[in-house]
Amino acid sequence: MPDRPYVIDQMISAKAIAARIEALAREITEAFRGTDKLVVVGLLRGSFVFIADLVREIDLPVEVDFLEASSYGDGTQSSREVRILKDLRGQIQGRDVLVVEDIVDTGFTLTHVKHLLESREPRRLEICALLDKPSRREVPIRATWTGFEIPDEFVVGYGIDFAQRNRNLPYIGKVRFLDG
Ligand code: 5GP
Ligand code: MG
Ligand code: MG
Repeated sequence: MPDRPYVIDQMISAKAIAARIEALAREITEAFRGTDKLVVVGLLRGSFVFIADLVREIDLPVEVDFLEASSYGDGTQSSREVRILKDLRGQIQGRDVLVVEDIVDTGFTLTHVKHLLESREPRRLEICALLDKPSRREVPIRATWTGFEIPDEFVVGYGIDFAQRNRNLPYIGKVRFLDG
């Protein structure tokens, strides 16, 4: 699959992403106002660019932690089996937690992660997803905050990969195969 020739058509510009993140961060700052500390949990690897930009716009005491769950392999096929490949370093019991995800697709990954983290009894747990593909949902889950709703297209860039490539694109684009 990764050997098929493809181009990337821009879907969401770097400027549009930055503007949306400013607005999201304002809402998040407002929602958690007064917290002693907000634990921001990035789901690796796709959210690493998003979380970096988002935390710099959040005006609260923030701790950053990461969790890696397997979802997609190296292709575009969704997998229902969610495994934790890397767990949090810190405790979240009694903490305010914000989970940061790149894309909510079928919803399996986020549902699994949410249940896992809720079992650790945080004071409050909210979710911020950069992208949402509502038409693909198989498990009913919604992020508290969503950057952009997008159609059922395979996207890359801004941290999001195609077979580990294209994460460094500053914008979000959709993959278009040239061989039909
Ligand atoms: P879900 O469990 O909701 O089906 O899967 C969510 C995960 O699948 C996302 O966090 C992301 O890693 C991956 N994913 C979903 N849609 C896309 C896409 O269009 N492009 C890429 N590269 N990954 C995607
Ligand atoms: Mg992800
Ligand atoms: Mg991936």
